[in-house]
Amino acid sequence: MSVTPFMFGPWVIRNSEIFFESALSVALVNLKPVLPGHVLICPRRVVPRYYDLEDHEIADLWKSAKIVSKVIEKHFNGDGLTFAIQDGKNAGQTVPHVHIHIIPRQKTDYENTDQIYTEIEKEREPRTLETMAKEADELRVYFQ
Ligand code: AMP
Repeated sequence: MSVTPFMFGPWVIRNSEIFFESALSVALVNLKPVLPGHVLICPRRVVPRYYDLEDHEIADLWKSAKIVSKVIEKHFNGDGLTFAIQDGKNAGQTVPHVHIHIIPRQKTDYENTDQIYTEIEKEREPRTLETMAKEADELRVYFQ
């Protein structure tokens, strides 16, 4: 686990929120998940836009997304996954640090499966640090 605090854009992320780390990427639980198991994968480097990433950072990010998504889908009893990047303020990005949203999906989520893209934009209540830490603890064991 990192000693220096991980910055998600302007936010300091506690180690208790991080459940997976690779050389260049970090996975964290979400403050305001759209659906259960909605997590985020970020490059370690604070880079606002996808095109600012180096190719080796992109390779590490998507490799990490592959590893994490398989676990997340199973752990949250999903039968599908939504991967999303909101790249730039006008695309809905609220945290200026590239991140892949990974969201486990179930047939029963919404009447229209594409509703997820509307839901991702809606304001939600933040979760407690305790709830987030508990979820990260549960997920971290898969990667030890
Ligand atoms: P976007 O709107 O695409 O930039 O997504 C930002 C995501 O970051 C949303 O899913 C938020 O719930 C999540 N988020 C914002 N602040 C934090 C935080 N401090 N820790 C964890 N997740 C966060």
